[in-house]
Amino acid sequence: MAKGEVPVTTTRRLEMIDLTGQVQQLVEASGIEEGICFLYNPHTTAGLIINEGADPDVQRDILGGLGQIIPSDYPYQHGEGNSPAHLMTALTGSSVTVFITQGRLQLGTWQRIFFCEFDGPRNRNVWWKIVAG
Ligand code: ZN
Repeated sequence: MAKGEVPVTTTRRLEMIDLTGQVQQLVEASGIEEGICFLYNPHTTAGLIINEGADPDVQRDILGGLGQIIPSDYPYQHGEGNSPAHLMTALTGSSVTVFITQGRLQLGTWQRIFFCEFDGPRNRNVWWKIVAG
């Protein structure tokens, strides 16, 4: 088993950051050929998803679409003023799990792992654990 944290620095209020390369490096450093990689985002205004990474327009559409789905003019009660970011996090979720096969993350052809910032810019962390099996 191997575990740790990946620091993520975001530079915009809404942003998707591709973590796939860094996570693959963690898998290789672990020496685990067959197993499971867990990634967990401990923040309440940032998500973690797997989605298409080939066309950057998909990332723009995801962020733009979430902005359309979640109104900014709803009478939110949360005093911090960032309830839309909390809702976006609720929709995207806080963790992903990927199988490891022959030392590689077993992702679909077009899939990448994205950290989703909804209330940046901030310094964030993603917790990870790689388990053999
Ligand atoms: Zn808040």
